[in-house]
Amino acid sequence: MTEIKKEEEKSLNFLEEIVQADLEAGKYKSILTRFPPEPNGYLHIGHSKSIILNFGLAQKYGGDTNLRFDDTNPVTEDTEYVDSIKEDISWLGYEWANELYASDYFEQIYQFAIKLIRDGLAYVDDSTSEEIAKLKGTPTEPGKASPYRDRSIEDNLRLFVEMRAGKYKDGEKVLRAKMDMASPNMLMRDPIIYRIKHAHHHRTGDKWCIYPMYDFAHGQSDSIEHITHSVCTLEFVSHRPLYDWFIEKLGIFPSRQYEFARLNLTYTVMSKRKLLQLVNENFVTGWDDPRMPTISGLRRRGYTPESLHVFAEKIGVQKRDNLIDMSLLEFCIREHLNKIALRRMVVFDPLKIVLTNYTEGEEFLQSENNPEDPGSGHRDIPFSRELVIEREDFMENPPKKFFRLSPGQKVRLKSAYIIQCDEVIKDAAGNITELKCSYIPGSKSGGDQSNIKVQATIHWVSIPHAITAEVRLYDRLFKVEDPANEEGDFKDYVNPDSLQVLPAAYAEPALKQAKFTEHYQFLRKGYFILDKTSSEEKMVFNRTVTLRDNWVKEQGKK
Ligand code: ATP
Ligand code: MG
Repeated sequence: MTEIKKEEEKSLNFLEEIVQADLEAGKYKSILTRFPPEPNGYLHIGHSKSIILNFGLAQKYGGDTNLRFDDTNPVTEDTEYVDSIKEDISWLGYEWANELYASDYFEQIYQFAIKLIRDGLAYVDDSTSEEIAKLKGTPTEPGKASPYRDRSIEDNLRLFVEMRAGKYKDGEKVLRAKMDMASPNMLMRDPIIYRIKHAHHHRTGDKWCIYPMYDFAHGQSDSIEHITHSVCTLEFVSHRPLYDWFIEKLGIFPSRQYEFARLNLTYTVMSKRKLLQLVNENFVTGWDDPRMPTISGLRRRGYTPESLHVFAEKIGVQKRDNLIDMSLLEFCIREHLNKIALRRMVVFDPLKIVLTNYTEGEEFLQSENNPEDPGSGHRDIPFSRELVIEREDFMENPPKKFFRLSPGQKVRLKSAYIIQCDEVIKDAAGNITELKCSYIPGSKSGGDQSNIKVQATIHWVSIPHAITAEVRLYDRLFKVEDPANEEGDFKDYVNPDSLQVLPAAYAEPALKQAKFTEHYQFLRKGYFILDKTSSEEKMVFNRTVTLRDNWVKEQGKK
């Protein structure tokens, strides 16, 4: 009950306001939205904003959402992309009412074009694209009519039918809508609505050699499906008059277009065309590389659908473009993983410790799986005479405020005993190879009777029980905040150190049972998930995110 109340109290975003007003005015019985990806790449986090918005609107107001593949460009599209898009939307937790393809409407859209020609509202133009561009004018000067603008309706019909029949080569002719060559909106100066393209289409094969342009396909598809609210990003504001013009002239269902700001994130790029270059030129290992801002990359990295929903909620829906800080996304995943991740100990850079006063053998210590989740239970951690700790947790000549291990100083081993460093062993070159330590017998966690106060608790792994795993640590994919807006090629700004591989970290044995579906917090190291390439022989973990935002701190130091 309180949940629902909260929901009502939250202020509506501007699209919710529009939908609510339309429903209250009785304009529609129920609403129908759509998510219209072009299957020319994998979805990225920007798309997730659009998905959550479109499906979210329908869910909130009891309507439906269609998944419509906007596949009117035969050259760049692929069924691999169709499959990945469906997987990503399902993963975000949504079910579409209908799976549709703009290419299924090619015949209907063709008939719309015939109607425009019959009504004297479209003509076949033989001009080259250069000639068309020349006559288009400039934002301050009106355009000039093409010499083909006043062709008879009969000629236009015959030529358009011939275009469809394959009589002409690519670029030889186009079909243009007769709008207004003097319009201040350049897009209204007789836009091209059909072009010739002798290309194989991923669904219609070689059936068509003419294809409708975006502006003569998108609104028409919306209208055919009776979409009530067609939500798109701001760059389409200037296309809205075309959208409305076609619907009005064709006298078809009056879908309406609304625009919101696209999501831009720091330290990455957000365009399929650019992401494709990163894949093709091997800057990353694939569309689902954990450094990619794709939904599949984020999933492989260990992001949860919940975290993307919270993120979308936090950034809201704006009418002005902006750049969102990547650390906000990281904040969202950290918050969620803190609640669900199982705690484990893994040592990345091992330094051996021998507890000289600990008798041979082992004992099992108990440690909570997740202090944030009392229901998560405990696990046993084997303890023995020989352990590894993190090399950086020891300093032979520590500065004043170093509270971890150093000669004569004590620390607590997490869920285990307090130890003290007695002797530092080095090799011939002077490298520290081992520490001889002693443990305090009465100091076991949970029943500590030692009365000794220590300043630090460090993680550790018992050597005879350890398993090894590869650990992959990721950094920003780009060195600059907004690579797409830097001078030169955005790829010049790729961060060469975005991946660090630790081939053999020491992990506590409970991780042998790690599951692909589970998230882990490696104590003091961050949140991790098994990579899809992980196997029983060779476990591989991806770091989803560090525990705290140390990026900002490190940048400050430079
Ligand atoms: P890209 O430039 O990455 O290829 P696009 O806009 O061409 O993006 P589409 O497949 O055409 O990609 O987009 C499907 C839907 O997702 C559209 O409604 C589009 O407006 C929306 N969308 C795409 N990118 C973003 C983004 N960064 N933020 C919000 N919505 C987006
Ligand atoms: Mg596009």
